[in-house]
This record gives sequence, structure tokens and C-alpha cells, in this order.
Amino acid sequence: MLATAIDLRSDTVTRPTAAMRRAMHDAEVGDDVYAEDPSVARLEALVAERAGFEAGLFVPSGTMGNQVALAVHAQRGSEAIVPERAHVYEYELGAMAVISGLVPRFVRAPRGVPRPEDVAAAVTDSVHVAPSGVVVLENTHNRAGGTVVPLDVSLAIAEVAHAAGLPCHLDGARAWNAAAALGVPLAEVCAPFDSVSLCLSKGLGAPVGSVLVGSASFVRAAHRYRKLLGGGMRQAGVLAAAGLVAVETMSERLGEDHERARLLAEGLARLPGVSVDLESVQTNMVYATLSDAAAKVEQLKHAGVLVNAVGPSSLRFVTHADLAEGDVELALERVAKALESVAAAP
Ligand SMILES: *Cc1c(COP(=O)(O)O)cnc(C)c1O
Repeated sequence: MLATAIDLRSDTVTRPTAAMRRAMHDAEVGDDVYAEDPSVARLEALVAERAGFEAGLFVPSGTMGNQVALAVHAQRGSEAIVPERAHVYEYELGAMAVISGLVPRFVRAPRGVPRPEDVAAAVTDSVHVAPSGVVVLENTHNRAGGTVVPLDVSLAIAEVAHAAGLPCHLDGARAWNAAAALGVPLAEVCAPFDSVSLCLSKGLGAPVGSVLVGSASFVRAAHRYRKLLGGGMRQAGVLAAAGLVAVETMSERLGEDHERARLLAEGLARLPGVSVDLESVQTNMVYATLSDAAAKVEQLKHAGVLVNAVGPSSLRFVTHADLAEGDVELALERVAKALESVAAAP
């Protein structure tokens, strides 16, 4: 591997900025289990305000944010209606079943966007089957390519949920990316939902943490599950301080990640043996289809480009704040050369 690998595995690989580290160093703190950490309180209030909700709860991870929300929203033995390939199912280790006794029911979601009528059809109302408990959306949709759910679809699906008496949760790990792509304030992306889990440690580049937002009574209930899951943290202000810098300074620059992903996608699509669904490249991710993905990961690593395989014939490339000017061009050169030498091998 070259000394300076370009790391495109995820937007979680970013290191805290100098401003974040200074803020962490100087953070005003207290015991947050006693609700005495002023930095945590500021972060929760800021994210709640940006997202347009009454209250927020700082949690260690996006997974905890989602799972606490599901625990609050749905009864044991009920169904969580989720878009196919949703993070809450694919990457949260069955937590909805383990923690909350929920069963997922999937709806088709081409490019990450379910049709409201399919969500309506997934709602059950019979004594003979498990009742529906909660509807979940994901924006942007990670496994579908970092794709954006249009505002009218979010609204229509939340309306379906509410008409059936169901709460609607948004896995908004990358909701800031969705807002940047749609060119609207974060609050507009979050408005249709009863709760939203937002990651600070993805595109915004904070080292740790997510904020779960909702009504004041929702957050009170969520607080209990955070504690139950071991998420009560003490002087968490050292982490929240970095989160505050992330929210205040990093959300404005996400468009740059999106432009770089577009450039990367177009470059990859031109390589022989590689195909990219350019229409699904809407934010900071590129999924490339090619043969022998696992072997390609090793070849690219050797050439100085780190990526993840997501299946036997798919590689995921993610742009983020730690990329330098020219890194995308350089990564493309390295990928082209690596794949060329593979093709030329006897
Ligand atoms: C990353 C991610 C999460 C949760 O992430 P953690 O790694 O637990 O912080 C949830 N949903 C989506 C869509 C994600 O990409």
C-alpha cells in the first residue's frame, strides 16, 4: 500500500478538525446523567432547532438513535414497516427484534424511495396478523446509493402512517446530505416525521455521536431507553463540543462532497468493466458494479485507494471532508491503473 492511501470507505473515517479539537479541549462539562452537562444541552437544543423539533437527545451512535426511537414508538410483537435494504434492518444486527420485539416488513424502494401506496398496502389491520407499529424512512438511503427521498414522497408516506395511527421515524443519519442535495433547510427534510435520528459522525465529521429529535414527551421516553441501553454518558460535553462545531460549520460544505462524488462516478463509469448507475449518484456515495469485488478491494488497496465491497460485484466509494483538492482525480488514476494491470495479467 502507498504511504498516502486515499480513504473512500466511508464518510466516518474523517478525523476531528482543529476547531473540533480546540472545542473539546475547552468544553464546559458536567455529569450528563444528572442532566448537568451544558455542552450536551446546547448541542441537543441546537440540533432540535435546526431539525425543527422541540427537543433532542445526544446518543453515542446512529444505531442507538434509531433503536431508541423504535423502542419508544412501537409495541412488542408489532411490525416496523421499512424500505428494503434499510440500515435499521441490514446493519443493526436484528436490534429491533432483540431490544423491542419488532418484526420488519419491507416495502420495495427503487433508488431508496418507497411508493406511498406500497407503504399503505403494508399496513396491517387484522386480528389474524401482527399489527403495524411504526413506519421508517431513510434519507439519504445508504444501500440504495446515498439516494435522496423527495420531499413530497416523505410527506405522502408520513400521511399514510398518520392516517393509520402510526408514528413515522426518519433514519436521518445523512439527512444533512439530503437537505444539501434538495437545496432546502434541514427542517424541511425532517418536518413530516415524529422523530429523526441524525448522525454527527458521518458527513459532518464529528468524532462521535448522533442526536435523536422529537417532541418533548417523545424525548422524555427516549431518555429512559438510552439509559437502559447503556447510553447514559457522564462528561459527554467533550464529545458534544465537537458536535456543536460540526453542526455549525460543516453542514454548509456538503455540496462539495456531492460534486466530488459526481466527478468520481463519471470517471469510474468510463473505465472498462465498471458500471455505475449515475442516476443513483445524488449525494456523497458511488456504488460501482464490477466482477470480483472482494479481490478488487485488495488490488485497489495496493494501489493506494481504500474502498468497501458491498456484495460480490459491488464497491462503495464515499467522499468526505478529509479529502484534499485533487484526491478524486488521483484516486481515479490509481483505480484505472490497478484495473488495467489486472485486465492485462495472464
Ligand atoms: C451510519 C448509519 C447509521 C448508524 O450509524 P452508527 O454507525 O451506529 O453511528 C444509521 N443509519 C444509516 C443510514 C447510516 O448510514
